[in-house]
Amino acid sequence: MLDRFGTGLKDAVKKLAGKSVIDKAAVDELVRDLQRVLIQSDVNVKLVMELTTTIKKRSLEEEPPKGMGAREHVLRIVYEELVHLMGDEVEVKLESQIILMAGLQGSGKTTTTGKLARFFQRKGLRVGVICADVFRPGALDQLSTLCQKVNVPCYGEHGETDAIGIVTRGMKELAGTEVLIIDTQGRHALEDELIEEIIALNELSHATHRWLVIDAALGQQAREQARRFHEAIDIDGVIITKMDGTAKGGGALSAVAETESGIVFVGSGETINDLERFDPDGFISRLLG
Ligand code: GDP
Repeated sequence: MLDRFGTGLKDAVKKLAGKSVIDKAAVDELVRDLQRVLIQSDVNVKLVMELTTTIKKRSLEEEPPKGMGAREHVLRIVYEELVHLMGDEVEVKLESQIILMAGLQGSGKTTTTGKLARFFQRKGLRVGVICADVFRPGALDQLSTLCQKVNVPCYGEHGETDAIGIVTRGMKELAGTEVLIIDTQGRHALEDELIEEIIALNELSHATHRWLVIDAALGQQAREQARRFHEAIDIDGVIITKMDGTAKGGGALSAVAETESGIVFVGSGETINDLERFDPDGFISRLLG
């Protein structure tokens, strides 16, 4: 159990382990340490407060199951509530699907599109990619290069500014594919045009998934981004990129809460293979590390 908590909370957990009784003071102390560590890791303050209120309440009210000591019981509650904070487990089905990528510029959306294409291809599915990022010059070349490396067809039109037209034609062109991934434009800010376009692309493509890409280093702004995208297209999964950096990804948890979804994948580097399925234990340990 201790291993799951990361170094930042190890001392607090040890303190708890040394106590002969687990009373309100002991729980309060643990909760304070937990709050400090989570806020340092960029987790939204409101989320932290909700989490710790539940932990306190459950720790003081629930009886430990038969055969479980009070300390272990409290630690289990802390762990369960942290897992709850990570959102639902998102199943990635290996079947035909259309994935619409959402996120602001620089979040890692195009790179992640290439990584996802690789992921599904390795699972034996026929994959195709459409580049509907008409905002960032170079996006199409970047995505084409990524796709060429792994032999995945990539549809795009140099110089075309109408994303709807590109996706309409791209879907025809790639009609035989099982997994279709559509990379969309991202801007520096949440402009109305961006939101209107992604709503139209969602309707046009009948996307089965709408995944939001969030940079691990994004702090409190993650919440607003997630809220706007979720309102627009009903986000059903979050991908946290750049987890190979120093950021702990705590900000992205507010995106998970806003969208009432879960973390689908984690980006762990710049190459096409640097994509991992989400592992709650690893994430918690890092968040509290
Ligand atoms: P977009 O504007 O959202 O399409 O962003 P890009 O896909 O172009 O990514 C922006 C930058 O982040 C690029 O330099 C990528 O190589 C880098 N990047 C994306 N994902 C990751 C990741 O998981 N780890 C690291 N270290 N860099 C990443």
